[in-house]
Amino acid sequence: MAERKSGAWRLPIHDFQDDIVANVRRSQALVVVGYTGSGKTTQLPQFLHKAGFSKNGLIGVTQPRRMAALSVAARVAQEMKCTLGRKVGYQVRFDDCTSQETQIKYMTDGCLLREFLDDRELSRYSVIILDEAHERSLDTDILFGLMKEKFLREEEDSSRRHQLKVVVMSATLDSSKFSQFFNNCPVFEIPGKLFPVKDVYCNMIKPEDVKNPSYCSQAVRVVMDIHTDQPQGDILVFLTGQAEIEKTCDILYKKSEELDYRKTCVTLDVTSLLILPVYGSMPTEQQQRIFSPADLGVRKCIVATNIAGTSLTIDGIRYVVDSGFVKQLSYNPRTGRGHSSGGYPLSRSEAIQRAGRAGRTAPGRCYRLYNREFYDQCMPEDMLPEIQRTSLTSVVLSLKSMGIHNVLRFHYLDPPEERMLLEALKQLFYFDAIDRSGRVTPLGRLLVQYPLPPGLARTVISSSSLGCQDLLLPIAAMLSVENVFIRPGEGKKQVEAQQSHQRLAHLAGGTNDFTTLLTVFQKCKESDSPARWCRENYIHWRGVKMALSIHQQLQGILDKQTQTADFPRQKLEGSPSELLRRALCDGFFNHIARRSATGRSFRTMDGHASTVFIHPSSVLFGEEAQLDWVIFHEVVWTSKVYMRTVCPVRYSWVQDLLPKLHQLDLSSLSGCQL
Ligand code: ADP
Ligand code: MG
Repeated sequence: MAERKSGAWRLPIHDFQDDIVANVRRSQALVVVGYTGSGKTTQLPQFLHKAGFSKNGLIGVTQPRRMAALSVAARVAQEMKCTLGRKVGYQVRFDDCTSQETQIKYMTDGCLLREFLDDRELSRYSVIILDEAHERSLDTDILFGLMKEKFLREEEDSSRRHQLKVVVMSATLDSSKFSQFFNNCPVFEIPGKLFPVKDVYCNMIKPEDVKNPSYCSQAVRVVMDIHTDQPQGDILVFLTGQAEIEKTCDILYKKSEELDYRKTCVTLDVTSLLILPVYGSMPTEQQQRIFSPADLGVRKCIVATNIAGTSLTIDGIRYVVDSGFVKQLSYNPRTGRGHSSGGYPLSRSEAIQRAGRAGRTAPGRCYRLYNREFYDQCMPEDMLPEIQRTSLTSVVLSLKSMGIHNVLRFHYLDPPEERMLLEALKQLFYFDAIDRSGRVTPLGRLLVQYPLPPGLARTVISSSSLGCQDLLLPIAAMLSVENVFIRPGEGKKQVEAQQSHQRLAHLAGGTNDFTTLLTVFQKCKESDSPARWCRENYIHWRGVKMALSIHQQLQGILDKQTQTADFPRQKLEGSPSELLRRALCDGFFNHIARRSATGRSFRTMDGHASTVFIHPSSVLFGEEAQLDWVIFHEVVWTSKVYMRTVCPVRYSWVQDLLPKLHQLDLSSLSGCQL
């Protein structure tokens, strides 16, 4: 735990600076294990910098989460008294804040993966720090394999050795897997102890609630009880995603206002409550507030996603409220589709991490909204690594573009199931990104340059070859940010929001959710005060602002590509709206559904014939009877499987594409050198 010494915070890691540096010098790979908050992320890169490692190249630190990369870089720049983007910088998808001067670079794991595409030797770097390895994010797992391949190449040919070091950092003690992976490399444990944390099972969520838990209102009750009954100390609430967090904060604001009001009537000796939401796409200006200590007489209550589990350390927390749920993007290899969903039961190992946040600086308490049966029956021991539960299409295309053809035999920390890899290959084949022998096609080489899923990148290329890129690029940008439509949970605002979203949809033609996104984008671009326009129309300005910047970057990539002679061109007659929908078909044609003969349901045409419905937020909801064929951007699983962001298409446009979905002989793909 941190203690004040000679005016500076001392963190547990500070006592081991020399040891750690010596270990990094001695060995090509090192695993560093230490409790959350011991100082790994912010201090270790600075140790290596001071020890002179940055003279030989950049010190690169990867983070699975975008917001963690931004926030930690800002903190380290502040500690090193330099402007962010100079000596210390960050790079995340669509946002590069580094310069020629940069020596310590924080970045998402996905960004480093993209750097491997240009330079498999990573010759700009002297050290790569793979942080938060215990999270087992897909891209970090792949980086493990790529680093190992690099080391093996160097072993074979020692002249290639450029002395790149790798440091793996993890917050959980079971690090033997990481060490074994790198030839049983040394493990450095930062000693440290947490204060005891008392578990309180609130018995509000039971095993039978697993499908439909109401953790927001329950969390509010527990927070208010802690606030009125428990001694001082800040509260950290773990929920699933932005929508749940905003909803909970809204109720908390109301409750704490009521409490403030009661205080003025009766003399109640209660401090005030400062409520602070934390989620991945939060504006940067707001982030710093979560770290600043609260004023005297104020108790902080932070309402966060799993990001506050191990990626961000917030001091002063004495009480943790754990909903027992986490948001995960899962993937169903059977249907070949990813889906986002409200929440999944948390794993027990993550629950232990969450509870630990209450015991960093003093003994604390963890209020678990669930009961013991829920913990025993519904929560898995460990979470499945992302590589075993997500779509591998993007990653397989990246690996193949790096010349790693045999993706089945890549060095995986934990290999994904073979059928997941085959599914990825199949998808890439549909997109014409690879040929029948599994080789990357010229089109595949264009697709991989976009920081987009291959299907979406495919729509960009098609739109340009059809001449409707001005309509499609904004849509691709809007699909790359989180849902921009604000949907208040209840009351008058809910009705107002619905009405204004419907108005926008009708302004866009009223038949296609993709063009609604285009309309929102255009309205903001034309508006003199887009933030106000967004507020009035229940749109997240932050999301659209991000989409505006993404749009420019996509345009930049496309402009370069269209200057090359082999850029594909197509000649098709049709109205702009028709051409746009045809471009969408090229990227989403594995997301085609046909309405069933009766009723409102649709059947997917990808060979699985799953039953799906139009999401109530769609402009086409209730219009099912008028529809025949549709394409959709994604499915959401709630009470039913819903298609979200839907657009009608004509059979004549997809009839040439559909046979491809059925005729593909997997043995031809898998029989080749995979
Ligand atoms: P670890 O990576 O081992 O979990 P960190 O290096 O992230 O630890 O955090 C060490 C300490 O640095 C924290 O206890 C906290 O006091 C401080 N800290 C980290 N990030 C920030 C930030 N963005 N703002 C203020 N303080 C921070
Ligand atoms: Mg850390």
